[in-house]
Amino acid sequence: MDQLQQAEQVMLKTYNRFPVVLDRGEGVFLYDTDGKKYLDFGAGIAVCALGYGNEAYKNALKDQIDRLTHTSNLYYNAPAIEAAQKLLDASGLDKVFFTNSGTEAVEGALKVALKYAYNKDPNKDYQFIAMKQSFHGRSLGSLSVTGNPHYQEAFLRKDFCAVLADYNDLSDVEAKITDTTCGIILETIQGEGGIHPAEPEFIRGIRKLCDEHDIVMILDEIQCGMGRSGTMFAYEQYGVKPDVLTCAKALGCGVPVGAFVTAEKCSSALVPGDHGTTYGGNPLAAAAVSAVFDIYREQHLVEHVREVGAYLTEKLEELAQASPLIKERRGIHLIQGLEFTIPVAPLIRKCLEHGLILISAGTNVIRFVPPLVITKEDVDSMIRILECCLKEEAIENKK
Ligand SMILES: *Cc1c(COP(=O)(O)O)cnc(C)c1O
Repeated sequence: MDQLQQAEQVMLKTYNRFPVVLDRGEGVFLYDTDGKKYLDFGAGIAVCALGYGNEAYKNALKDQIDRLTHTSNLYYNAPAIEAAQKLLDASGLDKVFFTNSGTEAVEGALKVALKYAYNKDPNKDYQFIAMKQSFHGRSLGSLSVTGNPHYQEAFLRKDFCAVLADYNDLSDVEAKITDTTCGIILETIQGEGGIHPAEPEFIRGIRKLCDEHDIVMILDEIQCGMGRSGTMFAYEQYGVKPDVLTCAKALGCGVPVGAFVTAEKCSSALVPGDHGTTYGGNPLAAAAVSAVFDIYREQHLVEHVREVGAYLTEKLEELAQASPLIKERRGIHLIQGLEFTIPVAPLIRKCLEHGLILISAGTNVIRFVPPLVITKEDVDSMIRILECCLKEEAIENKK
């Protein structure tokens, strides 16, 4: 029995995976168990910002493994203290809680907002406002604010789900605020929903509404954060700060870790006993976070994103102009999308065969979330393969 057959026998089928077993990585390239090489423009879904095999990152993890990997949160550990300080310096916020995943970061953020409202008035049934086409994770709390009824239907009572508003429609959000609204949650740039950046007036308007109504504003930057947008966090470009920030994905660059980070307004909402985690912020995960921030600084990675990101924009724009199958280009720097007039799955499969890893964001959108260390030459290689596969696809579509 080959490995793929065995996988189907032992693993619960919640994914339709590509028939590839990835084995190792180097720089911005991945290799499968047959030795085939792939240029990676997916980064394990916007996770592997440093690419593969970064020496400083590997050494930090190896050192930590030799020292201590887990303590529980009954005690302090030095890597977590350092990592928290670096995350606060980068975000301009006040307090950190480390989690093991993105969805757990969102769960924590929701609990902060609920407790903040409860402390003002414990006798109400509080609700969230979330955005249509949003994605915040698969656990039940996160799912309740994920604006995709298809994901929710079998799993959540309707009255447990957030009120959904149209993204980038401030008056719709305003109209949905009631005296039981405890929080408004949104992605600064929507990822899974098809790469839709928020308009400045929208984000600033929500900030203002949350201040006026004393509502907790949660920005989910699990995907768009950590430098991908050309600033460490995308909200910096809007001149606002959230009350609670969620991050994960590139935060650990491959070691599973997330965080929710509170502004002073919400830092005392949760008290001992209100929230916890066995693994969250353990020395191994925290050492990864700490190393990631150091490497970003030493390699001037965010500046690099702005340079190579501008080049990617130019190249994707040219491709979009040249191909009638492409409806539009969206996004910024190293979080971009091309919306096609046709489903993109066959095109993505074709690119994979040609040694290029791309991922989708919905049926018709190809999403570009490469390692942040890619070069202009890598962009050129990607465009060459995509262009070639697109031509074949266009011919097949005419048949
Ligand atoms: C990926 C993602 C999540 C969920 O993160 P997991 O680590 O998969 O739980 C939440 N929000 C956004 C915006 C994401 O992109």
